[in-house]
Amino acid sequence: MGIPHILAIPFPAQGHVIPLMELCQCLVNQGCKVTFVNTDYNHKRVINAMSSPSHIGDQIHMVSIPDGMEPWEDRNDIGKLLKATQRVMRAKLEELITMINESEDYNITCVLADETLGWALEAAEKMNIQRAVFWPAAAAVLALSFSIPKLIDDGIINTKGVLLKNQMIQLAPMMPTTKTENLVWACIGDATTQRIVFETLSRNNQTVKLADWILCNSAIDLEPAAFALAPEIIPIGPMLASTRLGISSGNFWAEDLTCLEWLDQQLPSSVIYIAFGSFTVFDKIQFHELALGLEISKRPFLWVVREDIGDKTNHAYPDGFLDRVKSRGKIVNWAPQQKVLGHPSIAFFLTHCGWNSTLEGISNGVPFLCWPYFADQFLNESYICDVWNVGERFERDEESGIIKQGEIKKKVEQVVGDEKFKSNALNLKELAMNNVMQGGQSDIVFNNFIDWLQS
Ligand code: UDP
Repeated sequence: MGIPHILAIPFPAQGHVIPLMELCQCLVNQGCKVTFVNTDYNHKRVINAMSSPSHIGDQIHMVSIPDGMEPWEDRNDIGKLLKATQRVMRAKLEELITMINESEDYNITCVLADETLGWALEAAEKMNIQRAVFWPAAAAVLALSFSIPKLIDDGIINTKGVLLKNQMIQLAPMMPTTKTENLVWACIGDATTQRIVFETLSRNNQTVKLADWILCNSAIDLEPAAFALAPEIIPIGPMLASTRLGISSGNFWAEDLTCLEWLDQQLPSSVIYIAFGSFTVFDKIQFHELALGLEISKRPFLWVVREDIGDKTNHAYPDGFLDRVKSRGKIVNWAPQQKVLGHPSIAFFLTHCGWNSTLEGISNGVPFLCWPYFADQFLNESYICDVWNVGERFERDEESGIIKQGEIKKKVEQVVGDEKFKSNALNLKELAMNNVMQGGQSDIVFNNFIDWLQS
């Protein structure tokens, strides 16, 4: 029996690369060989952002293929990115696999592809290679995607994904709820993007059947109702660096480690950590309102302001803001988030509710204040506020649609003042993390997956 050689390929976005790389490091630790395929564009970013390339380079073979976009094109335009990758990457992937199989000691024995990349599964099937899918978001989101035919039958959407009814959706009791207008494809970009995302989801509902495993970065105890509804989705998470080496890999931006020293100087459970992941952008008015909300909340804060969080004029701070908050505010371009959330000085997490951020908060027993931006984030907000009861949501101003500074101050006080959020968060942490302990449900799945890879 040879060594399993896994070719892992994420969707080319930050929240997909980090958790798949985490899973791959666990596979390497079990004696598998892994070739990790980024797009050329992301490969450069990951390599440039690494503080010590060797810790990953020694273990995982990092390679890249083109994504079909020009260097200057906007990769935050999900519709364009999906189209380009579908057009170009399949052929490049097949060439890469052929090249590896001709030149390396160990042939590729399994393609482990992000669920979003149905074409990678088709390529693997054509080349007669085993297939597994990795889903880096909540099981509820994939279950919702699998329910598209039912949503059409129920007259909620048409066959193109266009909304026919405005209502709340809950697939089963104890599952999160979402307004139809916040369905994953309905709250992304313009109408063209929405159509492309919907078509991709619908197509992937078929291609996912080509895989023997649908591994989800979640835990049965976090989403029992979703896993009961869609038992073909198998929980293997939370996959987090904190449970292994503590070093998270695959960042697109270099981590600013000075914030850890700054956190060391703060009182326990005093700091608001504010971060919106890799996609969220702000307009100028909302950005100012957030800054002023933090200012009038009068608490220490660590705020991640990516250089591309707005256009250059949009993320200019309000006049005098930086001066006024300098004694208790720290702003960085990109934080070592998993370490930050594990720091004892963190009080709670003001988050866009990306699934990785959600898991990272849970695994550290941190309460949340939710500010979802798009895609699956509204559903994750519902998990946090309605199902797990570990955080609060914001109300937008009815007229302007803005989250105002007064609302920010009010909700900050509510999250800090209500002890149930912290105690629920600590309980949820234990519940979730037991799954990845030896003998936990996700650990059993991981071991079964390894056995399958080796068989
Ligand atoms: N992240 C980070 N530093 C930051 C902000 C985010 O390392 O300053 C990481 C975060 O830990 C998470 C990922 O980036 O693993 C973001 O994924 P998520 O699903 O939360 O959001 P997305 O970027 O996909 O919207």
